[in-house]
Amino acid sequence: MLTILQQAALPKLNMTQKYDVVVIGGGHNGLVNAAYLARAGKKVLVLERRHVLGGAAVTEEVFPGFKFSVCSYVVSLLRPEIIRELDLPRHGLEILPLDGTFTPMSNGDHLWRVNDHARTRREIARHSRLDAEAYDEYGKAMIEMAHFVKPIMSMTPPDPTTLDPKGWKNLAFLGRRFQRLSNDDKYNQVQLMTMSAVDFLDQWFETDVLKATMSASGIIGTFLGVRSPGTVYVLLHHYMGEIDGAFRSWGFARGGTGAISNAIADAAREAGVEIRTEASIASIVLKNGRATGVVLEHGDEIRADVVSSSVDPRLTFMKMIGEQHLPDDFCADLKRYKYRGSSGKVNLALDGLPDFKSMPGPGAHLRGAISISPSVEYMERAYDEAKYGRFSRRPYIDMVIPSLTDPSVAPPGKHVMSCFVQYAPYNLKEGNWDEKRDEFGDTVVDTIAEHAPNIRELIRDRQVLTPLDLERDFGLSEGNIFQGELTLEQLFFLRPAPGWAQYRTPIRGLYMCGSATHPGGGIMGAPGRNAALQLLKDWKKSV
Ligand SMILES: Cc1cc2nc3c(=O)[nH]c(=O)nc-3n(C[C@H](O)[C@H](O)[C@H](O)COP(=O)(O)OP(=O)(O)OC[C@H]3O[C@@H](n4cnc5c(N)ncnc54)[C@H](O)[C@@H]3O)c2cc1C
Repeated sequence: MLTILQQAALPKLNMTQKYDVVVIGGGHNGLVNAAYLARAGKKVLVLERRHVLGGAAVTEEVFPGFKFSVCSYVVSLLRPEIIRELDLPRHGLEILPLDGTFTPMSNGDHLWRVNDHARTRREIARHSRLDAEAYDEYGKAMIEMAHFVKPIMSMTPPDPTTLDPKGWKNLAFLGRRFQRLSNDDKYNQVQLMTMSAVDFLDQWFETDVLKATMSASGIIGTFLGVRSPGTVYVLLHHYMGEIDGAFRSWGFARGGTGAISNAIADAAREAGVEIRTEASIASIVLKNGRATGVVLEHGDEIRADVVSSSVDPRLTFMKMIGEQHLPDDFCADLKRYKYRGSSGKVNLALDGLPDFKSMPGPGAHLRGAISISPSVEYMERAYDEAKYGRFSRRPYIDMVIPSLTDPSVAPPGKHVMSCFVQYAPYNLKEGNWDEKRDEFGDTVVDTIAEHAPNIRELIRDRQVLTPLDLERDFGLSEGNIFQGELTLEQLFFLRPAPGWAQYRTPIRGLYMCGSATHPGGGIMGAPGRNAALQLLKDWKKSV
């Protein structure tokens, strides 16, 4: 029996609210999911824990006048069908081109690849004539591979262990596409699934800095080095984006990556979605083994026929449901699912522009990505330190200065600089991230200063995000930027768990729709859309 005092301490339950679908999380995938469901006539509510929408695709004015794409900072993977179907440009989406990648080298030289193919070819030829030739062939082969993989991204993965004819149709479709590839492309495809980024690139190129900077795409968001098997798949993942039909191109969203989330939210609201921020979900309500709603941290219960979760499996199942309600083998698979965050982010508010020793003065090289990846050995050594529980003393850093392309994000004459950093292992051998945050920030600045010595005097303010901050502030378990590594053993029909890659879960009425589902992380929207389409199909057969 509860005492009166205990009863007063209990949160007040408001049982009046009922929706067709409640979406957990207002990141871009949750919003895409909600928009598609509402367009199909469902009554949908999105609940977001933070005060602002977007999750890892968010813009915030971290320092007065300086607006940062706090986590993700460039876009390419966002599916063109989503842009079209949700009419995102009408809702404010504008993508500005990111022109090329500038890689300063330790010997004072540089490599600067731009979107102008002829110029890039000349630049690579400056380092190696053979590589300039190979670059064309490589580009063609990667585009072929990306074309092969592209339809997979908008497909519900088949479950090869069932007799479901739709799943087998999808597998047969992939088999037929594979058969149609040229022999060379077939070999490339198998290599892309198995090799390390550097081993793969070694087959094409001889210039060390070219291989180093290209291999960087293979390690983003993974706890692997450029020489670790499997990393070449992550490299392909980053090739699959397109902007205005151009494969491989990356861009900035005007207003930061939060503008992408806001455009999706706007489209969702127009379709009738209700969105609440500062609405943190504590648990998913189960009745007779079925999800029937959610309970917020402050105690309100919201009922729904279906709950669609865009947060990662650890939060969805271990925190919001509890192991005791789940099949043992499913829990075992979830425990094996690897997060192992390895990235951090340093956002700098600058009084001016960095001046690189290897290409002094302001110029177009500052308008694209600036990659601190001077050699393959540098990249691998950065990983070595992380393997043994330390952040890299000389990390790989991918920097952009969006204020050069989109002046709206900084006061006149000032700049924002975004630095994506690897490696920052979630588990430190000594100390903890709260103690090490400043040291990590200093290391990043020191590393940049080796190439652009004026950086220190330009910094007005800095925001340092460690993997622990990504977990605490953004709900990314162990700080993994993709809600779980994009490694082969947790992709396609294995993401997030074998047998449960069709956006359904062992709990009836509970779906998954975030980056932890196929086809994974990045500002892509595909998990949200695929999950909505699957749910609507199931709904017809009664969910
Ligand atoms: C540092 C960093 C850099 C990155 N860089 C890039 C990049 O440049 N380009 C790119 O394409 N991708 C990048 N990514 C990856 C990309 O941003 C993510 O994969 C993507 O944004 C994830 O979207 P999502 O909607 O699946 O999940 P999330 O964005 O994780 O959204 C989940 C939402 O759920 C909310 N939530 C959590 N718990 C609760 C709760 N209890 N109740 C209610 N809501 C809750 C969270 O606050 C969050 O808003 C980066 C990610 C990070 C972290």
